[in-house]
Amino acid sequence: MKTAIVTGGGSGIGRAIAHRLAADGHRTAILDLDTEAADRVTQEIRSAGHEAMAVGGTDVSDRKLVNAAIDTVREQFGPVSVLVNNAGMTGFDNFLRIEDDLWERILAVNLNSVFYCCQAIVPDMIEAGWGRIVNISSSSAHSGQQYMTHYVAAKSGVIGLTKSLALELGRSGITVNTIPPGFVDTPMLRNSESQGLLGGSVDHHAERTPVRRAGKPEDIAAACAFLVSEEAGYVTGQVIGVNGGRNT
Ligand code: NAP
Repeated sequence: MKTAIVTGGGSGIGRAIAHRLAADGHRTAILDLDTEAADRVTQEIRSAGHEAMAVGGTDVSDRKLVNAAIDTVREQFGPVSVLVNNAGMTGFDNFLRIEDDLWERILAVNLNSVFYCCQAIVPDMIEAGWGRIVNISSSSAHSGQQYMTHYVAAKSGVIGLTKSLALELGRSGITVNTIPPGFVDTPMLRNSESQGLLGGSVDHHAERTPVRRAGKPEDIAAACAFLVSEEAGYVTGQVIGVNGGRNT
């Protein structure tokens, strides 16, 4: 049985990934800022008969907290073989009004977190000669997105980091891939809808999506389950879009 870490596993896409990896037989640890949400999802997974633990209050943009959380996971579940960097925060701001603090926060949560978590966990994977890393980026990095320069810059960085790290770690039996989701029905998307930031309702956009629906968190979890599997060993450095055909 392998140990998996899912950051931001307390909600939305991360929650679905944590459920799926646990159901597929991973001991699954949820690292999330939101302690209550991380505990709730852990209980859901345990109630379904699978192994899970939570390290709540983990801000993945803080290297010290990341290292401490990963040590806690190792103590209970052993070395980590699978890392899903999913935690993220969005933003919607006129470029000229973005102040340094906001720019740095968005970069830290979406990009620095991937750097910190990978640096903390890759040694376990090298030691084992096997590992799987999946970074959740964003379809907005395909196309650009107005009023999201900070977020799209960070997510584009995640894609570049993924491609480069894959080249560096291939010889060690470790794959690194990224899934850029597009238009997935989660609290993050509904929050944007309620603030009028989507340029129409979720239903309105679903009608204009090639597959005629919004994405489900489980759609991303299914792609992730494949990428962390044994049989995905020849897939690395790839950008696997899961977006209902909205970006090709
Ligand atoms: P979500 O429902 O808001 O879930 C994100 C989770 O991450 C929440 O539990 C959140 O906790 C946690 N989190 C936020 N900042 C954190 C931090 N600094 N440290 C640790 N945990 C943190 O969002 P989602 O829609 O599932 O998004 C998951 C990922 O997919 C994100 O990286 C997002 O950018 C990406 N994405 C989503 C979509 C979409 O259509 N939904 C599209 C493109 C990309 P709090 O609730 O306490 O903030």
